[in-house]
Amino acid sequence: MLSLWIKVALTSGLIILLSLASELVGGPGAGRNTAITCLVIWVCFQLYHLQKMNRWLSDFRISQTPTGLGTWDRLYSSIYRLARSYERQQAQTNQLLASFRSVTEAMPDGVVALDHHNQIIFASHRAEQHLGLQLPTDQGRNILNLVRHPRFADYIEGEEWSEPVVLHGLPTADRSLQLQLIPYGDEERLLMSRDITQLERLETTRKDFVANVSHELRTPLTVIAGFIETMQELPLDAKKRSEVLETMGSQTQRMQRLIDDLLLLSRLESSQKALQEQRIDMSAMLNRLAHEAKMLSRESHQILVMPLPEGQTNLLLGDEHELASAFGNLVSNAIRYTPAGGEIRLSWRQSAQGAGIFMVEDNGPGIEPQHLSRLTERFYRVDKGRSRETGGTGLGLAIVKHIASRHEAELKIESQLGQGSRFSIVFEANRCLRAQS
Ligand code: ADP
Repeated sequence: MLSLWIKVALTSGLIILLSLASELVGGPGAGRNTAITCLVIWVCFQLYHLQKMNRWLSDFRISQTPTGLGTWDRLYSSIYRLARSYERQQAQTNQLLASFRSVTEAMPDGVVALDHHNQIIFASHRAEQHLGLQLPTDQGRNILNLVRHPRFADYIEGEEWSEPVVLHGLPTADRSLQLQLIPYGDEERLLMSRDITQLERLETTRKDFVANVSHELRTPLTVIAGFIETMQELPLDAKKRSEVLETMGSQTQRMQRLIDDLLLLSRLESSQKALQEQRIDMSAMLNRLAHEAKMLSRESHQILVMPLPEGQTNLLLGDEHELASAFGNLVSNAIRYTPAGGEIRLSWRQSAQGAGIFMVEDNGPGIEPQHLSRLTERFYRVDKGRSRETGGTGLGLAIVKHIASRHEAELKIESQLGQGSRFSIVFEANRCLRAQS
């Protein structure tokens, strides 16, 4: 401030000195003219720089900072420094924003930042998908006008945000979304969204599974409990007693089979057991399966083992115990579901591409097409009565599918109603070994 007044004093002094000098040299009136001329030049100089500054500021470009004299030059430099520091801050903010965006994009949940009027400040790509938003078009718009769900508005406008809310039917009719609002900063809020469709499906499967197991165990337990009561209350003769004990025995076996299958399935699903890679002789395996099938069928079916095509390998690489159990399940199903007198064929061959195919074919009742895709679900049966009557647990094909997938193989089911069924396990070519290797 002081230097400004000194400058004003110096400038005024200089004008006065110039005016006095010209008064002395040029006579009366010359000093006044000089003073007026100096003032006009000074005003023009200031106006020129004001105009220059105005032009620069109205089309501001830091690279085109003008130069000037004295105070004006310092003014231009100060504005230049201010603009540079603003630019640096802006770059830092942009960098922060970019890393915030990449963090939110990397998150498995969607994120929407809302201001205190519920207007969208920012939304991650996942949140756009979850809530059907479209940025940048929807930026600044009220989210309540964009997400039309009765419970959504209640939740956002309410005060209870400590617990998330679950909305069914979002983002599409068959999906479910979990949302939670988290207040932050100055009345701003973060809306977190998570697609929980898969989680809900798993929970339903778990509940169904527990209900199915309970139901499967309850039936034999009820029979056994009934017989125990009868035996306690009524004196039974030896014949009746042995009949009752036989029924109790078969119900106990049924529970035993169910528990064995459940334990096997759980071991397979959790992959607790490492897979053994053994060289399995499929010709010997087919003969063993046919022998067991004959015993199970009590000679009431015709069991045929198809010969191995010429030049193909009979060696399969896999876990012999697991695969014997999977093949045995398919053979036992063929016998249990094919009426007496039917024919069952067992075969092993290689496809033209070298894949190994184990196949069980029967000429039983066949299966209607709508059931085929669901047969490997746990406890799915076409005819519950027939399955239980023949000692089925409803878990056989689920076990086969798991064993196949542990061997990177595929279970294929083909069937024609009234004609019969064909169950195949198709192994990749690299599991079929050449005899000499
Ligand atoms: P289950 O213990 O009931 O046999 P599975 O999982 O082995 O259970 O089979 C599921 C269902 O598939 C069976 O209940 C039966 O309805 C059908 N099924 C399986 N194999 C055959 C077959 N060879 N012929 C006709 N139906 C079959």
